Amino acid sequence: MAKYATIKYDEFIKKTLLHLKAKYDGEMYEVRHISRDLNTLDELLKEIKVYKMKRRIDEEKAMRQRQRGNEYLAHKKHTTAIKIYSEALALSNRGSLEWSYCLANRAAALYSLKTEKELLQAKEDSLACLFGFPVPSRAKIFRRLGHICLHLDEKLTALEYFKKAIEIEPENSKNPSESLLEELKNAEIAPAVVPPSEPFKIDEAGKKGKGMYATRAIRIGEKILSREPYEISVTPGRGVCSGCAKKTGAPYPCDSCPDDIFCTEDCYAKNFAAHQIICGLANVLYHHSIGKLGVLAIKLLLREDSEWINMVANNLKRSNLEHLQFEALAYYICYFTGIRNHKKMLRALFIITCNGIEMSDNSMGLYPDISCINHSCNPNVDFIFSGSTCTVRAIKPIARNEQIFVDYGNNFATLDKPSRQNKLLAQYFFDCDCEACDEDWKHKNFTTMADDFHRADEDSGEKRRVKNLIHDLEALDFDQEVTFPMFDDIRDNFAWLYQRNFFKQPTDLYVKSLSSIRKLLKRLGNTVDNFYYT
Ligand SMILES: [Zn+2]
Ligand SMILES: [Zn+2]
Ligand SMILES: [Zn+2]
Repeated sequence: MAKYATIKYDEFIKKTLLHLKAKYDGEMYEVRHISRDLNTLDELLKEIKVYKMKRRIDEEKAMRQRQRGNEYLAHKKHTTAIKIYSEALALSNRGSLEWSYCLANRAAALYSLKTEKELLQAKEDSLACLFGFPVPSRAKIFRRLGHICLHLDEKLTALEYFKKAIEIEPENSKNPSESLLEELKNAEIAPAVVPPSEPFKIDEAGKKGKGMYATRAIRIGEKILSREPYEISVTPGRGVCSGCAKKTGAPYPCDSCPDDIFCTEDCYAKNFAAHQIICGLANVLYHHSIGKLGVLAIKLLLREDSEWINMVANNLKRSNLEHLQFEALAYYICYFTGIRNHKKMLRALFIITCNGIEMSDNSMGLYPDISCINHSCNPNVDFIFSGSTCTVRAIKPIARNEQIFVDYGNNFATLDKPSRQNKLLAQYFFDCDCEACDEDWKHKNFTTMADDFHRADEDSGEKRRVKNLIHDLEALDFDQEVTFPMFDDIRDNFAWLYQRNFFKQPTDLYVKSLSSIRKLLKRLGNTVDNFYYT
């Protein structure tokens, strides 16, 4: 029976710190070269015992579980059936016949739901189970793949799968009709949509180092750039793929550990090398709440390329104490992962604290381009995530050559100036000089919406715009479905007022408009692009 690791992280760090302090007394030079002499620390590390958690395989139980799933499927309780098949899958050996049955049955349940996400997953499951079956049993799977592709409007691929099914079972009455096959043969490949080029450039930005600038005028909601992460780490146990942070209702469990799940076989294979190192250690890593940071650092060290090494680390701006703390953390991670490069681990940890971007679902990623965006407490863009894909969208009209700013966690409306500045200094090592800080905007009790309405000018149309904007903001209900037209009206009136310089100082209306635009963009996601680029 596996046992949880017994060491308490805080205690370990305290001990390590005491040791490092006694030995080097905070001397910067010595601390940075500490890896030359490891004797005492090694002894300390030997006191710690780490046990890996193993996934439990029980194919008898998997089969019983799968049969339960079949009953739910027969009663059209598809979602429950999918969940039970996933549990059965976690109990069976990868590649075994039982494993293939679980996948095939789950594909059937997913296919019944006929929604795009489930259809794509059904396709994955069907492809993954194929080779666990002897050839005669594959005809049924190929037929299902054909139908899945029909629903996904992939006509030529559907034809390929139907042909394979017919090859194995020429006489089966469930094979598609001649007329359907003929229709599919005549299907044409749809032309690919060419995305518009990205309206930004990266340039020098004075004492802030690099910055991102708009290369043309950008409208509210418009996509400026969209990136897959260079590297990510995901907290397991939340129905999210450990490889790519996609939400997955039909997961592929890791071969060995009980914690990590993947969205597809392919994603598991891609992340295998990195996962192997931390496989079974989730309870140790996350129990001591160094999970996200530590796992991301481990994955950086395992990469074949070393592009990340050149990202901003701010190591010379850090205090001796901080150096010691991170040094201890680097030792700790290196110790139980078996990685023997403390210095590189330390640099990875520094880089992540400066550049890591928190996504939803408790995951964290590195996006080198996006990290070039500087902070402002009064930002003009926001990050919108879909899985691990980060899209930068404008929340205000942005003029050509204007610098693009995001807030690094807090803005003038969510936190007062001293707290904001302290946080930025501690984590990112700069004094913020945005207009909100310079002009010392207060962070609460702004002028009311009624005041804005009173001061608005009647003849120029300001009053009408303000009135409509207030009306639309008050009508918003985020418990209900939100639609593009709701966003469009708010965006239109706010942009008009903003460009007339109506908001010289922040007001309630300004703050509410911006927070609603952010929320609407998060909810609408990439669907807003259809309205800009068609
Ligand atoms: Zn994945
Ligand atoms: Zn694992
Ligand atoms: Zn500021």
